[in-house]
Amino acid sequence: MASVTPKVRKQLSADALLRLVHTGFDHIPDDRPADVDMALPDVLMSAFAMFSLKAPSLLAFDKERSEGNVHTIYGIQRVPCDTSMREILDPVSPKWLRPVFTSVFRQLQRGKALEALTFLDGHYLLALDGTEYFSSKTIHCASCLHRVHRNGSITYAHQLLGAAIIHPDQRAVIPLMPEPIVNRDGTDKNDCERNAAKRFIIKLRHDHPHLKFIVTEDSLSSNAPHIETLQHYDLRYILGVKEGDHAFLFQQVQAAEYAGRVIYYERHDRAAGVMHRFRLVNDVPLNASHGDVRGNVIEYWEISDAKVQHVSWVTDLRVSKRNVFHLMRGGRARWKIENETFNTLKNQGYNFEHNYGHGEQHLSVVFAMLMMLAFLVDQAQQLCCALFRAVWLKLGSKRLLWERMRALFYTYALTSMRQLFEALLYGFKRSSPLVTIDST
Ligand SMILES: [Zn+2]
Repeated sequence: MASVTPKVRKQLSADALLRLVHTGFDHIPDDRPADVDMALPDVLMSAFAMFSLKAPSLLAFDKERSEGNVHTIYGIQRVPCDTSMREILDPVSPKWLRPVFTSVFRQLQRGKALEALTFLDGHYLLALDGTEYFSSKTIHCASCLHRVHRNGSITYAHQLLGAAIIHPDQRAVIPLMPEPIVNRDGTDKNDCERNAAKRFIIKLRHDHPHLKFIVTEDSLSSNAPHIETLQHYDLRYILGVKEGDHAFLFQQVQAAEYAGRVIYYERHDRAAGVMHRFRLVNDVPLNASHGDVRGNVIEYWEISDAKVQHVSWVTDLRVSKRNVFHLMRGGRARWKIENETFNTLKNQGYNFEHNYGHGEQHLSVVFAMLMMLAFLVDQAQQLCCALFRAVWLKLGSKRLLWERMRALFYTYALTSMRQLFEALLYGFKRSSPLVTIDST
């Protein structure tokens, strides 16, 4: 049976996106003396290629570098050794990577790839969450967070606020440039997730002044100052709330119940054996001291024979029987930032928590950002590229996909990433190695 070649949207193909990333790196300022022999875009692209190929360590990448394919596929002229890569990237400010994330995002917009992620009335669901990816008692740099223990010892750590466009019906997520949670030069005071969220939102609006977002976060974010920030920057929200942490809010829901202002709604999913039960109330004050900050509350019970789950959210979207099921699915999709983003980075071949090198200034953060950029390019493939999806389906897991991808990359001379994916999908003729004799 003749097979049909899966469709590849040219400007969103892996090869086009790799060229776009390289062009982005070309614009990053290089503060080193003019006579250095290693070009900064080559060094950045080499680190990116290390994450794109899911090399288990910098040393492994250094040992296996395959000059031919890094040139044809990643556009790298020369790959630095592991020591040079660390030394050259350490002083690079992570802020210069932001335009590279934005250019990939714009390409996805132009290719209409993000339409599949629209959640409600032209809005995207944007999940925000913090995570820690490094901690050590000994290794540290100028930007490490400090945890001082009772016995006087210190644990050093790196965290970031991750952000990704998610959709309840899509497995792929589109990450934006994360906001590092780091200490600034010369300050002992630890940065925190809440400050990082504020910086993130300002930059988000700067990069995308007119995009419509519904921000979704866990219950730690449901506080009046944060909600005022979201409102100030014209962002809608669906935020988790917990009875234990938001007692005042739940008292308001109870009061609304007595006043006959709540709406009940049930939907029975017989096939799944699940009952969805909702209690809704619009326009309640969120806390006693900020009476002018008001929101709408969704209480939700998922009832099956085995268990009852109870989850609640506060949102500025007016809730009704008509939209509450959809809003609940949006609120629940928040777990995708933990599962489909952080857990994928930690456990699906990216080695998010592996220390590729720490540096004294920015190296740890630069590596984390480049890994997220590689993840963005991979997720764009997952969302848009039928060829990538066909290879993934054939091999059955991402782990095996990355393994086979690396094996081909290091064994055969390739002209493009597309050729690599096609070889994985259709198979290829294995030839005996052509032994070259090293005359040295
Ligand atoms: Zn550090």
